[in-house]
Amino acid sequence: ATEDIKILLLENVNQTGRDILASQGYQVEFLKTSLPEDQLIQKIRDVHVIGIRSKTKLTARVLQEAKNLIVIGCFCIGTNQVDLKYAADHGIAVFNSPFSNSRSVAELIIGEIIALARQLGDRSNEMHAGTWNKVSNKCWEVRGKTLGIIGYGHIGSQLSVLAEAMGMSVVYYDVVNLMGLGTSRQVDTLEDLLGQADFVTCHVPELPETVKMIGQQQFEQMKTGSYLINASRGSVVDIPALIQAMRSGKVAGAALDVYPNEPAGNGDYFHNDLNTWANDLRSLKNIILTPHIGGSTEEAQSAIGIEVSQALVKYVNEGITLGACNMPEVNLRSLTIDEPDHARVIYIHQNVPGVLRRVNEILGDHNVDKQMTDSKGDVAYLMADISNVDTPTIKDLYSRLESLSSRIMTRILY
Ligand code: NAD
Repeated sequence: ATEDIKILLLENVNQTGRDILASQGYQVEFLKTSLPEDQLIQKIRDVHVIGIRSKTKLTARVLQEAKNLIVIGCFCIGTNQVDLKYAADHGIAVFNSPFSNSRSVAELIIGEIIALARQLGDRSNEMHAGTWNKVSNKCWEVRGKTLGIIGYGHIGSQLSVLAEAMGMSVVYYDVVNLMGLGTSRQVDTLEDLLGQADFVTCHVPELPETVKMIGQQQFEQMKTGSYLINASRGSVVDIPALIQAMRSGKVAGAALDVYPNEPAGNGDYFHNDLNTWANDLRSLKNIILTPHIGGSTEEAQSAIGIEVSQALVKYVNEGITLGACNMPEVNLRSLTIDEPDHARVIYIHQNVPGVLRRVNEILGDHNVDKQMTDSKGDVAYLMADISNVDTPTIKDLYSRLESLSSRIMTRILY
């Protein structure tokens, strides 16, 4: 029953998320901070669900104590703080919120396009230093200019719509063939994009193929006097090559929000100790440097609260794993909880030959209305809705499924 579900929320998880979980009737304990490991271990033994942000480290050492835990919600984008493999191998699903800040990033890029075209950063710095320096040389309107978007996913496509509204023409390059929004156009090669774009902006994930995707050769292929923006991942742009391209005048301006090495906290970090080229970057003209704030807005924070807590509710109540980062994604239409003779069987098991046959032997005596199964690596996830079952039968099913050697976790929802 929902009131038996115990949830621990750490690190001041957004109010939107707390409200959704509380409205389900779960027992929610909320703390503003993360916990030292020994206290975390004490608390985690008890709970079915834990919600964290980036500071709480859910290592194998911590998770092995979490005997009742079924799911982890990362109320943030990254999941490096969780041992995803250990969690999957023990039937603990992990959810995060990869796309709730897409709009925030897209808006930042729009701001940067205009700021670069008008050299706003430099003018503002000059005024802060007391200098009046009125310039129109090499300052431009953005209307009629071409924006080249590399990676037309959640952020790239949002950006495309906003840029067209300002009268820009948009081209994009993506490894997948995608329908362009508005009048934007996909181009076949990166080189094609670089040759046309007045503004180039990167929105690809970090992958082996995207590391230093923009390097010396790509800067040579760009138009003279064009601009480069990167708010994707720090590894995507070869920064020494960018410095060279800006010094030579090939690139007229740049905005960077992400870097190969980023400090864990706020403070005096942006100098050569962390990244050998930091001081060179700081000395360049018309470059906007921001500390990974692309998704840092109040709206994105509340969207994260909603997205993650809704995923947790769906998982706890219905076993649905859509969007899980460490489990196969399995979904069946909502179960009819009110009907007393229905049950949903969730069986997380090792992905080894012969399991499904044994499971189906156990389920086969009943009326299986729907069933779905999928695997990811070593872990498989089965969901079956059965009808005409009473409580003793459910208990029997549970213990028979639990006794199979391939079992990781059995849950029966009804
Ligand atoms: P997404 O997965 O929705 O889109 C990425 C797109 O890139 C996809 O369409 C994919 O097909 C394409 N792609 C993959 N490999 C490619 C390649 N080699 N060449 C061309 N295209 C390729 O991702 P998203 O949500 O739009 O995020 C994009 C990037 O922005 C990610 O790296 C993400 O980590 C980063 N991000 C940064 C911030 C920030 O605060 N600065 C915030 C959110 C996301």
